[in-house]
Amino acid sequence: MTPKSSVLADNAAQVMPAGNTRHTYLFRPRPFYVERAHGCKIVDVDGNERYDFLNNMGVLILGNNHPKVVEAINRAVEQGVGFAAPTEREIQLAKMVCDAAPCAEKVRFTASGTEATMTAMRALRAFSGRDLVAKFEGHYHGTHDYAQVSTQPTPKGSGRRAFPRAVPDSQGIPRAVVRAMLILPWNDFHACETLIRRNKRKLAAVMLDPIANASGLIPPKDNFLRALRECADENDVLLYFDEVLSGFRLAYGGAQEYYNVVPDLATYGKIIGGGFPVGAVAGKEEIMQVFSPSGSTKPKVTHMGTFNGHPVTMAAGIATLNELKAEVYQRLNSNAQRIKTEIEGTLEEMDVMGHVAVAGSFMYLIHFGLKGMTNVQDKFRENTQLACQFGLGSICGGIYLVPAHSCNLSAAFSDEDITRSIEIMNEVLRKMQPSLKAAS
Ligand code: PMP
Repeated sequence: MTPKSSVLADNAAQVMPAGNTRHTYLFRPRPFYVERAHGCKIVDVDGNERYDFLNNMGVLILGNNHPKVVEAINRAVEQGVGFAAPTEREIQLAKMVCDAAPCAEKVRFTASGTEATMTAMRALRAFSGRDLVAKFEGHYHGTHDYAQVSTQPTPKGSGRRAFPRAVPDSQGIPRAVVRAMLILPWNDFHACETLIRRNKRKLAAVMLDPIANASGLIPPKDNFLRALRECADENDVLLYFDEVLSGFRLAYGGAQEYYNVVPDLATYGKIIGGGFPVGAVAGKEEIMQVFSPSGSTKPKVTHMGTFNGHPVTMAAGIATLNELKAEVYQRLNSNAQRIKTEIEGTLEEMDVMGHVAVAGSFMYLIHFGLKGMTNVQDKFRENTQLACQFGLGSICGGIYLVPAHSCNLSAAFSDEDITRSIEIMNEVLRKMQPSLKAAS
């Protein structure tokens, strides 16, 4: 199906290690190369059209090239593509974030989600005067050193489920950085409470991705986030939600609104840049004050970046957020539920054990061999080979997703597009019948 992509992949390998700049979509045999995308469809260089179930990993909530966003981008580009001076648009988008996010009294923009989580962790350390930060095993927070600890647990390396070990995900991460991270088990409140209490004098904050996306998409158990909020308060530790993925996605007010728990600080990215690189740190005024100089004293935390508050990004972000009315979320989230119900129905009919994880309009298709997940270590029992087969089958059948990875919907999908997507996935499952039988 993809001869031109094949040639491009060979060319890429000549100039880039692994022929690639973003490991996220590096899968076997190789990704296809994109020519263009529009609405809910993405078209490769060989002319194959597929439903876009990735939307640049959750960024394009309105779909590809939404006309209002494109218009705002074009207008912004005509006025100039970046200045070492602020624009009014930055204030507008900052106000929109503060109005939407329950914890956000003040906000600062960065050029990526990674920079946002890096800056947030530094701010939390500076504010509390403590170095240790707790993160959950399996939670992804970008690619800086402190974030890439224990995001990809393995049966051998992880340690006990309730008391996971801190393990670097990459070579090149200093041991001192790994030691500055405390690893918590997702959805196990009692173990978290023990670890938080035991470390409270050194612990600046507890950080989390509210939907544990990189663990296979594991929503928090009922009351888990609320219990963490109370535990953080009791132990004088800050609570930080990394909403780079969940912000403006589960609901306009993100996971804080969806789960009704307000952290002290949050980070944003993806959607708020309307398709362009972006990140943001937002939170309570007293914490955000670490970025403000006091009189002639320099700020506790310095924060620079050539592309922070980029004028084109700000324009695209404002145009996107302007479209995000409550009914958009109702439709997005109910479409994801519909896919879950129908695909799980097919699995049941075929007598195949598996489930579709859903959080808002994020989905993981399909956790074969599992009926549900509460912790990333449940993944050790999953049949990821089948998930890869399903993913590649979907790509060949007309749906773009990264095999064995979460995916998501955009508002550009009509009811017919959802119906057709479900048909494609059902066909893929039928074709997989021999492998599914062999695995059961
Ligand atoms: N935090 C979370 C929860 C994310 O999902 C991501 C990206 N997928 C990041 C941080 C990093 O964002 P970026 O890729 O923009 O650096």
